[in-house]
Amino acid sequence: MNPVAAIRRGFRHGVHPAQYKAQTVDLPIQRLPFGHRYVLPLGQHLGVPAQPVVSPGQQVRRGQLIAQPGGFVSASLHSPVTGRVRAIEPRRTADGSLQLAIEIEADRYATQHLEPRPRSDRLALSLTEFIEELQSAGIVGLGGAAFPTHVKYTMPEGKRIRHLLINGAECEPYLTNDHRLMVERPATLLRGIGIVKRKLGADRATIGIERNKPEAIAVLKSTIRRHHRTGIAPLQVKYPQGAEKMLIRAIFGVEVPADKLPRDLGIVVNNVGTLTAIADYFDFGMPLIERVITVSGPGVTYPANLIVPIGTPVREVLDFCGGLKPPTRAVVMGGPMMGLPLPSLDVPVVKGTSGILAFTAESLPARRELPCIRCGRCLKACPHFLNPSRLGRLARLGRYEDMRRHFAMDCVECGACTLSCPSGIPLTQLIRVGKSKLRNSAAGSI
Ligand code: SF4
Ligand code: SF4
Repeated sequence: MNPVAAIRRGFRHGVHPAQYKAQTVDLPIQRLPFGHRYVLPLGQHLGVPAQPVVSPGQQVRRGQLIAQPGGFVSASLHSPVTGRVRAIEPRRTADGSLQLAIEIEADRYATQHLEPRPRSDRLALSLTEFIEELQSAGIVGLGGAAFPTHVKYTMPEGKRIRHLLINGAECEPYLTNDHRLMVERPATLLRGIGIVKRKLGADRATIGIERNKPEAIAVLKSTIRRHHRTGIAPLQVKYPQGAEKMLIRAIFGVEVPADKLPRDLGIVVNNVGTLTAIADYFDFGMPLIERVITVSGPGVTYPANLIVPIGTPVREVLDFCGGLKPPTRAVVMGGPMMGLPLPSLDVPVVKGTSGILAFTAESLPARRELPCIRCGRCLKACPHFLNPSRLGRLARLGRYEDMRRHFAMDCVECGACTLSCPSGIPLTQLIRVGKSKLRNSAAGSI
């Protein structure tokens, strides 16, 4: 597979939502000052929740392990501050559910300084040891899905990763956190790429960046050295360009079959934030206790790109940004296409939080639902060649097994069909409900 030959290709279907990135694209990353209270849900990654190794009342240091992986598809959790464990109790999370969480009260007199402990032995680590290190450092995908990174790197016997693909597309409107990382920390990102490429034994790495980020493309081009065997693939500006399979289609010109994973083609896809976090772990010994997020939208007084400790309540982040403008109607965690409308501002920032967006009534589309006019726009929007109109209808009728027969489980809930529908039918939401019913029925709970 030669990425250069396919660089100008995109993927079929998809949509072109307005970008709304100008508010934050030139804002340098700042650090949010430390607060008083942090809430760390144990299940903030995909897979099995972590298990606490601390108890209420216990003193903890910044970066100390507070929960260990609950299984192989799971990741560790570390304290984002020096302080005291206040409680281990159910807490409300972004999707509205209650989840067991560790609440930590920060020590207001602590410096919160993290003593750097560079991992000079990283070159000597075997692949197995490297994978174990990533799990114990709590590294998960920072693009939004929070899939444990060590699981992605674990290959079946006799197979290996040949190509490391780095996702710098950042195709969701409003979000600029990945863009700022690429502009401000290119050397760290390239170090992360170098570490992973060497450990996985990959032949090459390619960073896919949408063409609306010329500054990131220019900065990385000037930082990459020839021996890195790393290239940059400027991409069409199109949603959902950052979805793994779309990125592979755009860069290599090949489709990943519905029942296959990128690794079946010898490719692993990582977000730029994930690789930067891996470099930070090996450079400083810092586990995943903070991340960069974008705070933006018409309801935010002072938009920003911020380094935020994991567990910080959304309310504190918004307060730092001057609070919400009075006509704000909704606050969303993540991007506007795939993000979750928050049930409360007291829910915490988690590892998968890429942004916090606030919308006023005027900025939210007036969605009076009308009957389907069979225009076919949702079919043209779907990057997975599904029939969202039919899936939505089946979901409404409760015909979930029929949904499965029409490949509902291949839907990545990207929101492109909902955006394209002139009748305002909440197709993605309907399909999401149907998928969750099918998952529950497979688990035997209905
Ligand atoms: S949400 Fe699902 S059905 Fe709709 S466009 Fe995306 S992948 Fe297709
Ligand atoms: S885009 Fe909306 S109106 Fe058009 S076919 Fe799909 S569901 Fe029907």
